[in-house]
Amino acid sequence: VEIEAVELNTLIKDAFKLARSTIPENIDRSLHLSNEILPVNADKTQLQQVMINLSNNARDALEKTKQPKIEWSLHKYQATPEFKKSHPETVEEHFARITIRDNGCGIKRIHLEAIFDPFFTTKEPGKGTGLGLAMVFGSIERHGGVLDVESDIGKGTAFHIYLPLIQAAV
Ligand code: ADP
Ligand code: MG
Repeated sequence: VEIEAVELNTLIKDAFKLARSTIPENIDRSLHLSNEILPVNADKTQLQQVMINLSNNARDALEKTKQPKIEWSLHKYQATPEFKKSHPETVEEHFARITIRDNGCGIKRIHLEAIFDPFFTTKEPGKGTGLGLAMVFGSIERHGGVLDVESDIGKGTAFHIYLPLIQAAV
């Protein structure tokens, strides 16, 4: 792991360019960056890998969607009381929040608990290893971050990554 100060608008823009080629043309993709400078301590390669994993999952979830969309966004985020309540593992107040949202098939309630387990997959043999989200989870944890998922069957899924901002930026 090689941790350094990285500016997230730059990193996310680069990762988006890399991910583009793995997303079929028919999928509408959009990127919303922040107008604030958002520095975090991160391993660039690992974070890009996280983004690509989430983006590939979004693409796979869109196979049967009529007007498929993937949206990446980046915002500054201040912890709310509800956030603190559901994430007692962090004491941070100021985060950068990265969201990857799709309007695909969604995740069944009973699967939500299992998706971060290594080797859990709902894909056909040969199509999924079940290791992507386990990697994402471990990586965000090592970054001192928080990972959240919101999903509605038939409506879509959003993964939110919260990374603590370097103090000078808050
Ligand atoms: P894999 O992609 O190899 O199946 P992952 O760990 O990346 O393994 O994901 C595990 C499972 O979580 C997937 O098989 C799928 O059921 C579910 N999943 C992950 N992301 C999404 C998403 N964006 N929409 C719907 N289901 C998802
Ligand atoms: Mg995957």
